Amino acid sequence: MTDRLVLVINAGSSSLKYQLVEPDSGVTRTGGGIQQIGEPSSRVADHEEALRLAFAQLGEAGVDLGARDLVAVGHRVVHGGNDFYRPTVLDDARIAELEKLSELAPLHNPPAVQGIKVARRLLPDVAHVAVFDTAFFHDLPAAAATYAMNRELAERWRIRRYGFHGTSHRYVGERAAEFLGRPLGAVNQIVLHLGNGASASAIAGGKPVETSMGLTPLEGLVMGTRSGDIDPGVISYLWRRANMDVDKIESMLNNQSGVWGLAGERDFRRLRAMIESGDDAAQLAYDVFIHRLRKYIGAYLAVLGHTDVITFTAGIGENDAAVRRDALAGLEELGIAVDQRRNLAAGAGARRISADGSRIAVLVVPTNEELAIARDCVAVL
Ligand code: ADP
Repeated sequence: MTDRLVLVINAGSSSLKYQLVEPDSGVTRTGGGIQQIGEPSSRVADHEEALRLAFAQLGEAGVDLGARDLVAVGHRVVHGGNDFYRPTVLDDARIAELEKLSELAPLHNPPAVQGIKVARRLLPDVAHVAVFDTAFFHDLPAAAATYAMNRELAERWRIRRYGFHGTSHRYVGERAAEFLGRPLGAVNQIVLHLGNGASASAIAGGKPVETSMGLTPLEGLVMGTRSGDIDPGVISYLWRRANMDVDKIESMLNNQSGVWGLAGERDFRRLRAMIESGDDAAQLAYDVFIHRLRKYIGAYLAVLGHTDVITFTAGIGENDAAVRRDALAGLEELGIAVDQRRNLAAGAGARRISADGSRIAVLVVPTNEELAIARDCVAVL
């Protein structure tokens, strides 16, 4: 068989990442990204320019996007709402529906829709497929998906817990079961996706039963610049007392909070260096991050009842041994024992970091959202 190729595009508000993936072998041929789109200091004005630049970079890398091997362009879309939860082949009508969904995710969906439109114009002869970050959590149990608020209002405005990073949680959950050599349906697991955005999920026998993000990716764990859980009373209080309007409050909670809001730094490598140099704010930011994470792990152990495996993934989860140590320290009574030598050992692939006697396995599994999206694309075509 010739190697089929899928171009995966992830368009965020000011960045555009792309990867050319072989869905069958799982190999990433090449990839790259364009940052600071539309920012005053940037020479890339919009997503159209960014995509043209990406295609030029691919051309320089020797990739012919007109070649017959390219079977699809896969687009990561953050919010699928209630109606989009399968990989969706895009046509004008579908895109119009997607545009309406932007009301539900004004910070996240518009750049994706823009990316889709431009990519279809530049590559009109290939199928374009949208893959949704919410999809995996579409069938969360009602008790986990429902906010305890006025029911009519919630239904009228489609307010529920949707969950995000679903492509990553599903992919990592499958790889974890594979690593343990057990059928997915027989494994109860907690997946901790810790990157700039961070979320946790509880997955029972392959089906998600809880996740930390909600109507938007703001709920849950402490993140790079997002607050995670916060008393909704803070919002009305700031509005009344600090004279901040809703856009300002939303932007503050999304872009100027989290670890960055507490320490002025969001990258965990630099945060560590600050802690080591005695920076109290960095220490507090780290402590708040770890405390919240442990709270969620405890909650998910209770939600699952029986847990077989806890898996760390994404930039921090895959690379920061101290976070993994501190997240699970002192939990031997709950059946969790990390082997610190294994935890510290460098490694690239999936690996076990729990001690041999640990009742619950602890793994590190690199996520690969692009590959999962590419495989979703060829499955739907
Ligand atoms: P995104 O949510 O943007 O996809 P990633 O999953 O790529 O984020 O995670 C990026 C974050 O991972 C960085 O901001 C940094 O905090 C953390 N990170 C990356 N490499 C390391 C490392 N070697 N040690 C500690 N933290 C790391």
